[in-house]
Amino acid sequence: MSPKEIRIWPDSTLTKPSEPITHFDAALRALVRDLIDTMNHEGNAAGLAAPQIGVNKRVFMVDIPPEDNNGNGTNGKQAFINPVFIKKEGKMEWQEACLSVPGEAGYVTRARHVVMRYMDLDGNQQEIDAVDYLAGCLQHETDHLDGKLWVDHQSRLKRELVRKKMLKFKTEHKR
Ligand SMILES: [Zn+2]
Repeated sequence: MSPKEIRIWPDSTLTKPSEPITHFDAALRALVRDLIDTMNHEGNAAGLAAPQIGVNKRVFMVDIPPEDNNGNGTNGKQAFINPVFIKKEGKMEWQEACLSVPGEAGYVTRARHVVMRYMDLDGNQQEIDAVDYLAGCLQHETDHLDGKLWVDHQSRLKRELVRKKMLKFKTEHKR
């Protein structure tokens, strides 16, 4: 396994909906290892979704130490598979960034408290209750699985500005 190249928006893999995981097998474990290796390579990423490394599957990783969010965090780099929100309440406006939109950030309105049902690596159904930073991160990553990024929550003007910067970034980095 090795770190994969991060897809930079605009990119067709990032903007199409991903397929649910149906087999909890070695291929899934290999995908999760690639996501972990890529997160380690990229440094301090709080989350990474499979489409960001070019795989349209409903899997993402989140790594939020509990001490960074008043005790509400993940168990290291945790895999979330086929996520579904069963509760969303409250509102918060916070700034989001993304490895697929390097050097940029923008304000997004999210639910402040969520309960999300998901599958773990063994195919067991689990639930996570999240607030604030962790809740925002779960919503950002689930957006990736639906082909959405934080730029899609911006005004047309801001989105277009960021798009032009990213096209320039890709030319300069030959992606
Ligand atoms: Zn992202």
